[in-house]
Amino acid sequence: MPPKLFDVHTHIQFAAFNGETDAVIRRALDAGIWLISVGTDKTTSAQAIEATQKYPEGVYATVGLHPNENEKFEYEYYKGLAQDQKVVAIGECGLDYYRILNLESRILQKQVFDNQILLAHEIKKPLMIHCRNAFGDLIKILDSKFQISNSSPGIIHFFSGTKDDAKQLLDLGFSFSFGGVITFARDYDEIIRYIPLDRIILETDAPYVAPIPYRGKRNEPAYIVETAKKLAELKNVSFEEISATTTLNAKRIFAIN
Ligand SMILES: [Zn+2]
Repeated sequence: MPPKLFDVHTHIQFAAFNGETDAVIRRALDAGIWLISVGTDKTTSAQAIEATQKYPEGVYATVGLHPNENEKFEYEYYKGLAQDQKVVAIGECGLDYYRILNLESRILQKQVFDNQILLAHEIKKPLMIHCRNAFGDLIKILDSKFQISNSSPGIIHFFSGTKDDAKQLLDLGFSFSFGGVITFARDYDEIIRYIPLDRIILETDAPYVAPIPYRGKRNEPAYIVETAKKLAELKNVSFEEISATTTLNAKRIFAIN
């Protein structure tokens, strides 16, 4: 059955779902929702792949090192994981200056990010990017290091930049995912209206940031329906159009049949 919606960024392998990961996946698949389970370090990247193995379709993974994780980036380890057919992107990787004020840590974040860009190139898979308070540096790095190849460059997950950041990233070929926050914060309305619908996809970032009416509860992929409804409202199109377009976008970006 073709998916109705696609949660492109979720962490169903995290401890918050302890013992219930398969039940959560089932609930999503039964509701016609496909998902990408996103790794953030060595352990959660391996677990992300593991979570996909029982499902012939609809459940995919990414492997990578989150900028807030204090782990060394082991290129060969991640390359090994990334060969798995269910791995559809490298990440989540990127820059997060929100709490990081010292220059040394920022330089380290950039090096780790560079290595993951390199890996994405080598294995020809797109990037799943996390960026917070660092769009200037992010765009500089992507502009100089990321030559747009015939494959898709990837996505900026939970985009929180400005219209100008969005424009530059659109020009580089990137797409943008939005999650539950758009159901209760109005800060993203304008940027969502600005970005063309064929460059927008949906995510939950579960277990975090559940949409209304689940706010404050543990989030899960099945709740993405609420975010899709809000996106339809903001874009002034039908739910069916949001469903069809965002699903098609996700499949195209991550090369999923
Ligand atoms: Zn995440």
